[in-house]
Amino acid sequence: MIAHQPEGVKVLLGGLLIDGNGGSPVKDSTVVIQGQRIKAVGDRSQVVVPEGAEILDCSNRVVMPGMIDAHLHLQKANVAYFKNYQLGTILTTPQLLLLYSLRSAQIMLEAGFTTLRSHPHFMPFEPNSEWYGVALRDAINAGLFPGPRLLSAGGYVAITSSHFDLIASRTLPRFPGVTADGPWALREMVRKVLRAGADFIKTCLSGGGGTAQEEPDIRNMTQEEIDAIVDEAHAFNKPCSSHCFTALSQKMAVKAGIDVIDHCVFTDDEAIELMAKEGKYLCPTLSHRSDRAIEERMAHGAPPDVIAKMRKLQPYCYENFKRIHQAGIKIAMGTDTQIEPTIGTNAHELELYVMLGMTSMEAIMSATKTAAEAIWLDKVTGTLDPGKFADLIVVDGNPLHDIRILQDKEKITMVFKEGELLVDREKGKSAGVLRQPVYRGGAY
Ligand SMILES: [Zn+2]
Repeated sequence: MIAHQPEGVKVLLGGLLIDGNGGSPVKDSTVVIQGQRIKAVGDRSQVVVPEGAEILDCSNRVVMPGMIDAHLHLQKANVAYFKNYQLGTILTTPQLLLLYSLRSAQIMLEAGFTTLRSHPHFMPFEPNSEWYGVALRDAINAGLFPGPRLLSAGGYVAITSSHFDLIASRTLPRFPGVTADGPWALREMVRKVLRAGADFIKTCLSGGGGTAQEEPDIRNMTQEEIDAIVDEAHAFNKPCSSHCFTALSQKMAVKAGIDVIDHCVFTDDEAIELMAKEGKYLCPTLSHRSDRAIEERMAHGAPPDVIAKMRKLQPYCYENFKRIHQAGIKIAMGTDTQIEPTIGTNAHELELYVMLGMTSMEAIMSATKTAAEAIWLDKVTGTLDPGKFADLIVVDGNPLHDIRILQDKEKITMVFKEGELLVDREKGKSAGVLRQPVYRGGAY
């Protein structure tokens, strides 16, 4: 399917409108889409329906912004494709993983996600790892394949022996330049990633949980190194995110002027106060350590010590999520989907947020308005306001009553990206973006 610029006017009539701004839903709404953008939106009695417009009946449906996953890794060997993710990662070329990532992006669009911010895949043997995710974004933007709006980090910016470096086995050789040490070498790395066309910089300030080889409370760089990375990203007008498991890493990140803090598995009162005061965005990525993720990893060959580590970290993730939410820190929905959980089930993250104290409306905002702000796209998407791109979904059921509805793609009956109806599951329709409905299975 080649993307085209829709000329006509479409009107979504009669749906319950949740516009992403957090106000009361509008019971009987009208949304006017002209070309790629929202022309008018509001109560049916107050919005004029242009003559000759194509009318789409949305009565008994919810109309809301397309969802945003602000943190996932499209290029990793997801369990949906590879029986053994460790073998899948080692034995698969980056080029093949890139093609799988296209399918993953399309699955996400079919699940109601119109924007994804894809984080890197560490490739110790690939000196130009930053090219891959950027190529996928450009292919979708060029209309070669239908897919969600994509922001790509390209490659990681990280020091030797950091969490990212240790995602690969210690024994694998590293190509020179896949990590860097010292402020100037890291500045050069940022510039190299941005030269490839990355949309944001992703770095790492603490140890992590993905492997059994490292402790989460290891400091991963000095203050002057993180200062250099953030300064360099901002010099090129790009945002910077950092993996921050610990209170120390969160404080260092805020001091450096970071834009988004990822994970927050551990924290303390001082770090929470600082993040709240400075208005930082936090991406909790709870799905990655949920019961579902643990089960999936066990079923796909993860060693017992990795499983034990995930189990140990989960209560800290959940408890500290409650603390950061209660402190009023801005939460942008992100799942860290990579080797697991299964791609397309990402709205499970919202169920966890509600389980831990968010209202359903707050959870929806975390995946729409707040996520768009965190990734610097709030001027163009994230809410249904006139002038923004018509990125929206129509849902058969009310996620304010049961947030789990958003995990059921059969209930997401329409998906619009930039005014184009790319997925249509309304009665008698079966239009989608996946070219091959029957997937024949991964190699390992
Ligand atoms: Zn991640």
